[in-house]
Amino acid sequence: MKQHNFSAGPSILPQSVFRQAADAVIDFDGMGLSILEISHRSPQFTAVLEEAVALVRELLGLDENYEVLFLSGGASTQFFMTAMNLLRPGEKAYYLDTGTWSNKAIKEARRFGEITVLASSKEAGYTYIPKGVEVPADGRYLHLTSNNTVYGTQYHAWPESPIPMVIDMSSDIFSRERDLSNVGILYAGAQKNMGPAGTTLVVIRRDMLRQDNDLPTMLDYHTHIAKNSSFNTPPVFPIFVSMLNMRWLRDQGGVAAMGRRNAAKAELLYACIDRNPLYVGVVQPEDRSVMNAVFKLSDESLTDAFLARCKDAGIAGLKGHRSVGGFRASMYNALDIDSVRVLVDVMDTFAKEHGYGSDAVSGVQEIYH
Ligand code: PMP
Repeated sequence: MKQHNFSAGPSILPQSVFRQAADAVIDFDGMGLSILEISHRSPQFTAVLEEAVALVRELLGLDENYEVLFLSGGASTQFFMTAMNLLRPGEKAYYLDTGTWSNKAIKEARRFGEITVLASSKEAGYTYIPKGVEVPADGRYLHLTSNNTVYGTQYHAWPESPIPMVIDMSSDIFSRERDLSNVGILYAGAQKNMGPAGTTLVVIRRDMLRQDNDLPTMLDYHTHIAKNSSFNTPPVFPIFVSMLNMRWLRDQGGVAAMGRRNAAKAELLYACIDRNPLYVGVVQPEDRSVMNAVFKLSDESLTDAFLARCKDAGIAGLKGHRSVGGFRASMYNALDIDSVRVLVDVMDTFAKEHGYGSDAVSGVQEIYH
């Protein structure tokens, strides 16, 4: 049976996208050839790449000051490629530490410049987003992770910053409308809201680029900009499927419609967590991620029984990240609200059966910081 897929990534994509992708593997565009066996320089694939770039521009509302690239190496490559392209030894950049992924970005950037971590929620197990941070004006950029896939926190408003921001949007790209006016670079691994694993979206505001680069060719943004992401063989299939998914996104009403849909899904699930004392939302409520809801059971001895019940209901991908434990329900764009209803129904019923019904007294607020 088709599962309700709450996996954190690689994750759910629309069924219609899977079908079109499957068809194109057999015969792409009536060519009598698979999308997997045509040249990346063929007019057919060039059209795919151009449409993918145009869709990113349309969905994010980007003007001609931005370059749009589809690279490989994952978001993890952007942890160092951003710093490598923007910094020189002794030059400053500021970072915000909200968990695993920002930590990795910080570690890589330290190889290239003088990195200062302005704020961190590490001491509280990354259960909140640091706010009110003073960002000095003397850095090249401020780096942050917009949605923390592992811990389930999300920036709902950007920090005030006198310098451009470099943002890792791997797990909430295209999920809601965002103000990009002070974003110098954004990057996102495809495998959550954009497409299959294998390509990374990088959006660069032209004024961020410096002209004094002497970098390995493949690691220099100029190379990929000059060759429209085709300096070498690009990740053809992930770009194609991302393009199909972005068409779907546009046809659904774009990022604004996704924002409304995603907010409704998150509201449904967090309300269930809050009304049942069996479930403990670990993140400070105002910083809860709309994409990844992380929760635990107040009675951990019920963990296996709860997972078994979810499995019986066709719910997949709910187990929490190995570093955090508990559960993580990822509700990316393609997840229908009906799947959240199924999960909420299972959670309500399971809690009630074990004497933790929503009519029990909730101590839920006490666990928040
Ligand atoms: N940043 C965030 C926010 C992530 O969730 C992930 C993992 N998907 C990464 C970076 C690393 O991405 P990749 O596996 O594409 O290198």
